[in-house]
Amino acid sequence: MDSSLSSSNLNVKEFLRPLLLGLEEEDLDELAQAAALRLFSPGTVICHEGEPGDAVYFVVEGQVDILKRLDDENERFLHSLRSGEIFGEMAIVQESVRTATVRTAEPTAVLEIAKDPFLAVLGRSPSLGIRILVRMTNRLRDTDQKAISELRQVNQELTQALHQLARLDRTKADFIRLSAHELRTPVAALLGYAQMMKNNPLVQANPQLSELVHGVVTGTARLHRVFNSILDVSRVMTGEIEIHRSPVSIPVILEGIFIEFRQALADRGLTLERVGIKGMPICAGEPDLLYKVFYHLVSNGIKYTPNGGRIVVTGRMVDLPDLGLCIEVAVEDTGIGIAPQDLDLIFEKFYRTGEVELHSSGTTKFKGGGPGLGLAIARGGVEAHGGRIWAESPGYDEKTCPGSRFVVQIPFVEVGQESVETPPGLVANATTPDDAVSGG
Ligand code: ADP
Repeated sequence: MDSSLSSSNLNVKEFLRPLLLGLEEEDLDELAQAAALRLFSPGTVICHEGEPGDAVYFVVEGQVDILKRLDDENERFLHSLRSGEIFGEMAIVQESVRTATVRTAEPTAVLEIAKDPFLAVLGRSPSLGIRILVRMTNRLRDTDQKAISELRQVNQELTQALHQLARLDRTKADFIRLSAHELRTPVAALLGYAQMMKNNPLVQANPQLSELVHGVVTGTARLHRVFNSILDVSRVMTGEIEIHRSPVSIPVILEGIFIEFRQALADRGLTLERVGIKGMPICAGEPDLLYKVFYHLVSNGIKYTPNGGRIVVTGRMVDLPDLGLCIEVAVEDTGIGIAPQDLDLIFEKFYRTGEVELHSSGTTKFKGGGPGLGLAIARGGVEAHGGRIWAESPGYDEKTCPGSRFVVQIPFVEVGQESVETPPGLVANATTPDDAVSGG
């Protein structure tokens, strides 16, 4: 139903008079003559948001709701209007489109006045102008207030949710750390006994037994490394550890790592080149933490490069606009590469690319899967030193092997200038020497 009731017994002029107090008699007459009474059934949209406005409306009877579209599916209720209230005037006065949708909430009668006669009277009557202005300002203020209090409410709910998440995250990190800690202790004992068995002459004299014990030692050592990595990462996650700087030689750290992987490199036919490492100055940093950073990068270079490939570790000093003088170490390989969408994600804890079940096991085997913690630990270590780490790669391709490059930049702190510190939002890692060679 959307009909004009010209025979209605409503006295339009007298209905409008109190609503438009101060209007000249002839202006009132003109508006009354231009007004058409319209009846709408509930749920009818009288004004569509976004459409041009061509009339203003006075509610005679019933109720309309003012609604604003939030997205394709949701709308927000702003307020309701009842008898004697005007709507649709904003688009007319501003000569713009409707800024909200108006829908009837019940059977509703309205007076519709077309844009031209309304604007003609408005142009002549300052009192009508002021009245419209006051109504518009009040309405905007009400809408603002409503939006602000809704925002406050949502903000409060979000803050509560955030606190709850932080609590849960903390509980999870505590649980991970405690479990890893509890499990590592018996595994360390197991590893010790297994190594003793391996060295026992009786075992060594029996090739079959020796092979079995070797399997036990390798598996237990791997388990031990995984627990160490979990402990490392849980420290990085909880953000509670201070960084204790002492004199560190990056060349010595890297040399230690190269020695550690010498056999693996030989077994896999990989070459490892060093460029510019020797000349790097002694700096103040946390040796264990820096060892882990580069250990995981070199270990990954080995793991994700097929036999016969090359790993190049380059060191240099760089002066950067934001970080100042920095130590930069890049680990580059001729391996399988990394897809663009994974370049950031690989630094998340427990994130591994590709099909996890296809990974082989071991820290130096080709695609030897780790728990996905190495790069999270490396990032934690670098950030704890106030630096940054990122990965570059043309893409992932196991056939063409485009390679990857990991770059670490750490602000250079001169020996003697060091202090105990924890960079904001970042974590350093106090470790036992035992943790220093945990694999990723
Ligand atoms: P993981 O224990 O799986 O090695 P990391 O945190 O060290 O865990 O690495 C996360 C993922 O990043 C790896 O599973 C691998 O997919 C990818 N990745 C890391 N380093 C390299 C690299 N040098 N070349 C290709 N992919 C790499």
